[in-house]
Amino acid sequence: MANNDVVVSGIRPTGVPHLGNLRGALQQWVDLQEKYPCFYFIADWHALFGLEERSREIKENTKKVLATLLAVGLDPEKSTIFIQSQVPEHLTLFTIFSAITPVGWLERNPTLKDMVRAEEPLPYGLLGYPVLQAADILLYKGTMVPVGKDQQPHLEISREIARRFNSLFGVEFFPEPQAVLNEYPVLPGTDGRKMSKSYSNVISIEDDRETVRFKVRQMITDPQKIRKSDPGHPDICSVFQLEKGFVDSAYSKDIYDRCVQGLLGCVEHKNMLADIIWQYLEPIREKYFYYLEHEEELWKIASYGNEKATKVAKETMREVLDIIGL
Ligand code: SF4
Repeated sequence: MANNDVVVSGIRPTGVPHLGNLRGALQQWVDLQEKYPCFYFIADWHALFGLEERSREIKENTKKVLATLLAVGLDPEKSTIFIQSQVPEHLTLFTIFSAITPVGWLERNPTLKDMVRAEEPLPYGLLGYPVLQAADILLYKGTMVPVGKDQQPHLEISREIARRFNSLFGVEFFPEPQAVLNEYPVLPGTDGRKMSKSYSNVISIEDDRETVRFKVRQMITDPQKIRKSDPGHPDICSVFQLEKGFVDSAYSKDIYDRCVQGLLGCVEHKNMLADIIWQYLEPIREKYFYYLEHEEELWKIASYGNEKATKVAKETMREVLDIIGL
């Protein structure tokens, strides 16, 4: 990576964050802030595009997501942490990019079909979602974008838009952002599918110790392992897969061996996992609730980040308007 690398990424405020967010995307954000200038934003415009009818929940969720970002260890001095809608330049650049983006690029977006509800007409904003994403990234001349695999096609559109802008106006202004894939394992939820709010299978940052224990107890294990002495199959067990997100490989191997040799029972293992998760979650949860109880402090941190982001965004837009001759 070059020295002028800039990391940009956003999170939609669509609900209370869960373990899958904390141990996945957000842990990667924390790692990256040690090495690069980072712009991390709460993507409230994107949330609006996805659930316009629940727009009143966005502000409350924004507060919760912001508290989470701070609780997991993002440092407002190292990273620029801000709220997308508070930096209007995102929409200005979105409008300019809308003028140069062929509709065909957006129609072939493979995730569009999943996002559209079959019985409803396609909102214009949802079609243009990747154009706003391009504006989000390129406003800060982002070169590195931490993404999940499902977001990669959107990033390809960001690159195409950057190329098109540069070629139309004969400049080398916008970089072509590259994906930084997350190396943390995707955590299974309590039903074994990917942990996701839409599957209602999450362990949330707000869950207390008893709730964590209860949820882990409900998890599906190897159905053939009835007694402790039965040899189990950890590879098909979601307890084992979830645990891998929190322990090192030596610990995991030991558990694996004990399970297949019939030396570990599922109830015992679930209690162990609940303790491991709680050990990880408790300090984060404490900080999270601290920020929720100290709203003034929380919004002050957001204002600080909004100002830092606005300064960079305004400078980019000044240059962009100059390039396009407005
Ligand atoms: S002992 Fe643990 S890894 Fe083995 S099947 Fe039971 S819960 Fe899964």
